[in-house]
Amino acid sequence: MKKYDCVIVGGGIAGLQAAIQLGRYSHRIIVVDSDKGRSNLSHCYHNILGWPEGVSGQKLRSIGKKQAIDFGVMFMEDLVVDVAQKDGKFMVKTTNKTIEADSVLLATGVVDRIPPKFLPLFPCLGLSVFICPDCDGHEVKNKRTLVLGTGNPGAHLAMALTYWTNELIFINHEQRDVDEELMEKLNENNVTYICESVEKVLCDGRHLHGVILKNGTKVTGNYAFLAFGGNKVKSELARGLGVELFHNKHILSNPRTKMTNVEGVWAAGDVAVHSEQVAIAMGDGHQAAIWIHKYLLEKK
Ligand SMILES: Cc1cc2nc3c(=O)[nH]c(=O)nc-3n(C[C@H](O)[C@H](O)[C@H](O)COP(=O)(O)OP(=O)(O)OC[C@H]3O[C@@H](n4cnc5c(N)ncnc54)[C@H](O)[C@@H]3O)c2cc1C
Repeated sequence: MKKYDCVIVGGGIAGLQAAIQLGRYSHRIIVVDSDKGRSNLSHCYHNILGWPEGVSGQKLRSIGKKQAIDFGVMFMEDLVVDVAQKDGKFMVKTTNKTIEADSVLLATGVVDRIPPKFLPLFPCLGLSVFICPDCDGHEVKNKRTLVLGTGNPGAHLAMALTYWTNELIFINHEQRDVDEELMEKLNENNVTYICESVEKVLCDGRHLHGVILKNGTKVTGNYAFLAFGGNKVKSELARGLGVELFHNKHILSNPRTKMTNVEGVWAAGDVAVHSEQVAIAMGDGHQAAIWIHKYLLEKK
C-alpha cells in the first residue's frame, strides 16, 4: 500500500487549489475525485478575478489539474466510500483500493437538488440559467427572470432577486407551502406567483426560451434561477470520522487553519463554508494547504 502525506478527497476548485499548493511543497499528494462536482456544471463563472469574460468550471478544473500534475500531484478518478483512523494514520477507502495517509483534506462540495424535469437546462447553467444570486444576480439586472423552484426556497430566492430586477415570475413547481409573511413580501414586490408544475422546459443549447406548465400555459423568459432547496452537503465522510458539523451539515473547521476538531483532518470549499463561491473555495483550499504543510513538517 503506497503511503501519501495527504489525500485530498474531491478534485473540484478547493481540492485543486490545495493540491497545487501542497505539490509546490513537494509533499506526496493524491487527489481522489469522482468528477461530479458543481464546478463541472457552470459553463461560465462571471465573478472571478482575471477572467473578465467569464470562465467555465470545466476549464478551470482542467487547467488546475494540469498545474497540480506539473508539481507531482497524483490523481485517481474514484469515489471515496470511507475514511478511518488507525494507529495515527488515515485509511482512505475508495471503491477499489485503500490509501494510507498522514492527513486528509475533505473538499467534497455540495450537490444541488435539481428535479429530473429540469435536466435539459444543464447546457444553460451559468449562461442563461443560474442558481446563486451572489454569483449571477448581476446577469439578470433589469431582465425578465423566471424563478423555477419550490416553496420557501423559491420564494426567498425570488425576494433576493428583487434587488436586481422587478420583472420576476416565481413558478412553485412542487407546489409546496410558502409562509404567509413571505407571500406578502412577494406581493408587495410585485413578484408574479404561479403555483403549478412545469411540464416542459423550452431551451436550445445555451438559450432558455421559457417553460410550458402542466395546465398548458406557456411562460416565456430568457433567464431563470433554480431554487428547489434540499441541496446535499457532502459531509458523510467527515461525520464518520467524528468531525463536528454545523446544523446544516457543513463541516466546522478552525477559521485560522481550516483543520477540523479531528487532528489531521481538514475541510475546504462548499462542504465547509456558507458563501459557496469559487474564489472562496480557492482561498479555503490554499489556506488548508498551508496548515497541512506545517502539520506534516511537525510530524516528520
Ligand atoms: C450552476 C452553478 C453556477 C455557479 N456559478 C458560480 C459563479 O458564477 N461564481 C462562483 O463563484 N461560484 C459559482 N458556483 C459555485 C461554485 O461552483 C462552487 O462554489 C465551487 O464549485 C466549490 O468548489 P468545491 O471544490 O468546494 O466543490 P466542487 O467544485 O463541487 O468539487 C467537489 C468535488 O468533490 C468530488 N467528490 C465529492 N464526494 C466525493 C467522494 N466521496 N469521493 C471522491 N470525490 C468526491 C466531486 O465529484 C467534485 O468533483 C456555481 C455553482 C453552480 C452549480
